[in-house]
Amino acid sequence: MTTTTLIRPDTVSRPREVERLVAGMATSDGAGVKLTRVLTQPLQRRLDPFLMLDAFGTDNPDDYIGGFPDHPHRGFETVTYMIAGRMRHRDNAGHEGLLQNGGVQWMTAGRGIVHSELPEQEEGRMEGFQLWLNLPAKDKMNAPWYRDIQSESIPQFTTPEGVTARVIAGESHGVAGAVQRDATAPLYLDLHFEAGSHFEQALPATHNAFVYVYRGEVGVGADTRVPEQRMAILANAKDSDGVVLHAQQATRALLIAGHPLNEPIAQYGPFVMNSKEEIFQAVQDFQAGKFGA
Ligand code: MN
Repeated sequence: MTTTTLIRPDTVSRPREVERLVAGMATSDGAGVKLTRVLTQPLQRRLDPFLMLDAFGTDNPDDYIGGFPDHPHRGFETVTYMIAGRMRHRDNAGHEGLLQNGGVQWMTAGRGIVHSELPEQEEGRMEGFQLWLNLPAKDKMNAPWYRDIQSESIPQFTTPEGVTARVIAGESHGVAGAVQRDATAPLYLDLHFEAGSHFEQALPATHNAFVYVYRGEVGVGADTRVPEQRMAILANAKDSDGVVLHAQQATRALLIAGHPLNEPIAQYGPFVMNSKEEIFQAVQDFQAGKFGA
């Protein structure tokens, strides 16, 4: 573990409140993988630059064994965070990696990639998240990029209040995360709360932000409770300077925020561009075998 003890506390004096709670939608994707789509297409504008958040968590191999065979992406980044289980990634740009307990895979599809994400286990628990982060128009046709971040390489720290923060992206309490992005400035924290602890995170008021609770329960601001398996969209009050999260019981939650791109969003399945014309082009290029070549 990259554990830092010298931290600079984030202090928040005008915390954000919850704008709304979202339950997500049970669905399946790939070859029959059961998951909950927490951030769905109707929320893409509101939560710009984030396009999707899927949560998966099951002890039943029938729910995950099919995995995600070869499929394309263009125009954005996929960030997969594995809480439990093992998943093998292969793509046609020549990358291969094993994603496992506590690790992150950060893939920039850019101008196009074809990859598979397949379970490397036939039994046991599979749990984690896949977040889709948009790319600015100017970067959508960049070359694909890929990085496996093993669990021990994710910076983390524990506050005196008893919260352990794993900093996947962005910065918290003076600790820089594993990945930084200029245009969208994503913050991606996995927070583990001891019972009776709280956590303050500074956030620019213009950044769109949400919390997803995957164990326990979080209290936000004055009195909103966010139960397990719910996403709370945090309001962007103009004078706010961050968020304060409380936990009365042992709790785990993701805190995700980013700078909105404010560009048109055109999505067709695994392609996310700025216009219909660019989507037609993506489909044509994929069918012509031009991805990842
Ligand atoms: Mn994929």
